[in-house]
Amino acid sequence: MFVCHNQSCGARWAPDEVDIHNEGQGPLFRCPLCGARNHLKANQGRDGAVTYKQIPREHVAKTPPSAEAKRATPPRRRS
Ligand SMILES: [Zn+2]
Repeated sequence: MFVCHNQSCGARWAPDEVDIHNEGQGPLFRCPLCGARNHLKANQGRDGAVTYKQIPREHVAKTPPSAEAKRATPPRRRS
């Protein structure tokens, strides 16, 4: 069971209710209700089945996608 980390949302989802994909920073799902990104950690069991575990918000807060997007185009004015 996943819980949307958007505090004003907090919706709960079963793994088969969300679309898990990878945008380059590891697996994540977007909350169907509010669209917030929720990061996941993939675990492969001995039988080969992959299960996903939700990463607590404080562990991903260091590199929010929005901050990285800003960093991608830094104003370079050095003269
Ligand atoms: Zn949500």
